[in-house]
Amino acid sequence: KIIASSKDLSDTVTMRPTIFEYVLKGTPRFDNFRLDQPGRKLSLRVHTTPVIEDSTVSYIVQVATSLEPVQAELDKLRAILFLLIPATVLLTGIAGSVLVKVTLNPVDDMVRTIRQIKADNLRMRLPLPHAHDEIHRLAETYNQMLERLENAFTSQQRFNQDISHELKTPLTVLKGELEVTLKKSRTPEEYAEVIRSGLEEIDKIRRILDHLLLLARFDSKELAMETQPVDLNLLMEKVMAHIKILADQKSIQISYVSSGPVVLQGHEPQLRRLFINLVDNAIKYTPQKGRVIVTLSRDGDLAVTEVSDTGIGIPDNELPHIFDRFYRVEKSRSSEGFGLGLSIAKSIAQAHQGDIKVRSHPGLGTTFTVFLPVKPPLS
Ligand code: ADP
Repeated sequence: KIIASSKDLSDTVTMRPTIFEYVLKGTPRFDNFRLDQPGRKLSLRVHTTPVIEDSTVSYIVQVATSLEPVQAELDKLRAILFLLIPATVLLTGIAGSVLVKVTLNPVDDMVRTIRQIKADNLRMRLPLPHAHDEIHRLAETYNQMLERLENAFTSQQRFNQDISHELKTPLTVLKGELEVTLKKSRTPEEYAEVIRSGLEEIDKIRRILDHLLLLARFDSKELAMETQPVDLNLLMEKVMAHIKILADQKSIQISYVSSGPVVLQGHEPQLRRLFINLVDNAIKYTPQKGRVIVTLSRDGDLAVTEVSDTGIGIPDNELPHIFDRFYRVEKSRSSEGFGLGLSIAKSIAQAHQGDIKVRSHPGLGTTFTVFLPVKPPLS
């Protein structure tokens, strides 16, 4: 029975039997109602609650409020979102593309420069962008690579010029001698002499080509695999015996000191060549009655061989270049030699995962130290 109700909601539309039964049990509840009667459209939020007296539900009170303002706000929000989302997408898109353009501008510059770089202008460098970001690092790394390529290219060019020069000299001598000989008729002895001297020049050319071929094989890493255990003491004794004749000719005292057995995995003929080149140089650049001392020791996993002489030494400014191909300190110091001995020695050491270091005091002597790993990783 309805005891009281407000005027504008005098019907029982909101007190459905299910709600009534539910609240009668003593529990309040909330419901939403939508009234859709002719001339009357309403959205309501209704609270129905029991009034309990002496443990029984005496009354049920129902209050309602219109959901219209909330609905109106929600409609407004929907309209705003409807406009805002496309606007945001549009703005983000524009901002994104502007940003990408600004960021990638330096890449365009780089591409333009890279397109111009050819073998004859390896000196060009990429412009470095102001921002210290990934693009800056990329340009920097690319420039470093260009520098390495330029260096390799320049040394290759110098190498080619040197080869041409070295081969031209004996060929010119040979040609000159043959032309002079042809100018008039000679005795058989004179012809024999010219042929002998011609053969000497041919031999020189052959030796240069042999050295170059060897270096080329090192460059292409062809020699790396043919290794076997090499007893360094035995090897050094053979080298010393081989070099003794040369030392005796100049009354140079040679000695070999070993601190114990050293066996390493290597290419015996190449290692012998390495040490012959060093000891041969020591004799070549040491005046009469000098001394050449070779020592062999172990330092951890390294076999350390030192070749010291009491020779003319190498000036400080020349030291960084002496392992370069065709490099000779003051060509007048030695009539023989092509400046390939040390570069071959270094290539052999490096093919064994080792290295050669040098220290020298002009006028006092030079020491070459060869480091070879006793158990090099198999390559
Ligand atoms: P080369 O065939 O001219 O000896 P190398 O490559 O063996 O060529 O040596 C390069 C240069 O290093 C030589 O021209 C020489 O001037 C210098 N050099 C090498 N070994 C010694 C040494 N033990 N003492 C002084 N100078 C040396």
